[in-house]
Amino acid sequence: MEVKENAPLAPLTTLGVGGNARLFVRTESIHDVEAAVAFSREKGLALFVLGGGSNVVISDWGWDGLVLQIGIPGIDEHATGRFNVGAGVNWDAFVAHAVSRNYSGIECLSGIPGSVGGTPVQNVGAYGQEVSQTITSLLAFDLAENRVRELSAAECGFSYRTSIFNTSQRGRYVILRVSYALEQDGKPRLQYADLQKYFAGSDGSPSLAETRKAVRNIRASKGMLITPGDPDSRSAGSFFKNPVLTSAELEELTRCAAERNLRVPRFPALAQQHKISAAWLVENSGFSKGYERGATGISSKHALAIVNRDGATAAEIIALKEEIQARVEQVWGIHIEPEPVFVGF
Ligand SMILES: Cc1cc2nc3c(=O)[nH]c(=O)nc-3n(C[C@H](O)[C@H](O)[C@H](O)COP(=O)(O)OP(=O)(O)OC[C@H]3O[C@@H](n4cnc5c(N)ncnc54)[C@H](O)[C@@H]3O)c2cc1C
Repeated sequence: MEVKENAPLAPLTTLGVGGNARLFVRTESIHDVEAAVAFSREKGLALFVLGGGSNVVISDWGWDGLVLQIGIPGIDEHATGRFNVGAGVNWDAFVAHAVSRNYSGIECLSGIPGSVGGTPVQNVGAYGQEVSQTITSLLAFDLAENRVRELSAAECGFSYRTSIFNTSQRGRYVILRVSYALEQDGKPRLQYADLQKYFAGSDGSPSLAETRKAVRNIRASKGMLITPGDPDSRSAGSFFKNPVLTSAELEELTRCAAERNLRVPRFPALAQQHKISAAWLVENSGFSKGYERGATGISSKHALAIVNRDGATAAEIIALKEEIQARVEQVWGIHIEPEPVFVGF
């Protein structure tokens, strides 16, 4: 286990901002994780667990402690459709593997950056699928009880973009392996309008591989696929969650929109849960795609992605986030919650 001092964190993230870790270690086994945790305790260092760095904003001061990056490898199929996957495996590589073996259940999650271990944390979801639909259990190091233990899917407390790992038990577990149950020869899920439009006019039903390709193409057109050379993908993905409203709040929003001759878009997939589009709120609060604010701005392809245009600082990213939140609140009376994790602030 190699411990590095003063290690730059920005290059380990998709947004590319922030300072250094006082100490940094990349672990490739459960044993290494236990050793790194023991080391941080012995030295009295605050611990931060990093995966693929695609959902974090690191402060300009960095992390004054130990950053533990999880690199545990391995995709094991232990029964038909039952996969045990190392937390350090690249998520999209696992999706590619599953699709190539004709397993359904995660094809709509193609192209999401980051690690397998990062997926349960915010119950990653896109285009009508969420990992909570296929995760059966996971193995984690419990920092409170100082032992490795298994958590069932029910114990993970999954909900929209949340789990116990980013709410009630934040910082308690280091996820080591995740188990998924996929369906062999299953049909792709084509619930989302974007996907239905993509395949409109094509003969027969698309295969899992065609669905994966479609999802990646749609994501690329929105800057939501990490594409070298595309400045719109230097982001942390969607910076804000879609707000969940009560019926009364939704009624009030619809009334306010009508006064401005606007209609609140109701996407079937969001409507079921009284969710409304954060992108619509942002775009109807005076921000447009391509909005610029110094070295930061909004992606020219997606209103919810804050991008690091050119050497931005974390402080500049936060200033833009706050400007957007304040304007949405002022115009619509709705507070939009950020999605990424803020580290070292
Ligand atoms: C271009 C782009 C598009 C995106 N699109 C989507 C999308 O469609 N849907 C979606 O849900 N998300 C999306 N995201 C967000 C992000 O990719 C996911 O949240 C991803 O699962 C984060 O995984 P990660 O390994 O990069 O985690 P990191 O960014 O490294 O960490 C995020 C959080 O998870 C914790 N964490 C990571 N690994 C572990 C572990 N092994 N054990 C314990 N805690 C851990 C960290 O401590 C941190 O709190 C997108 C991001 C980008 C940049």
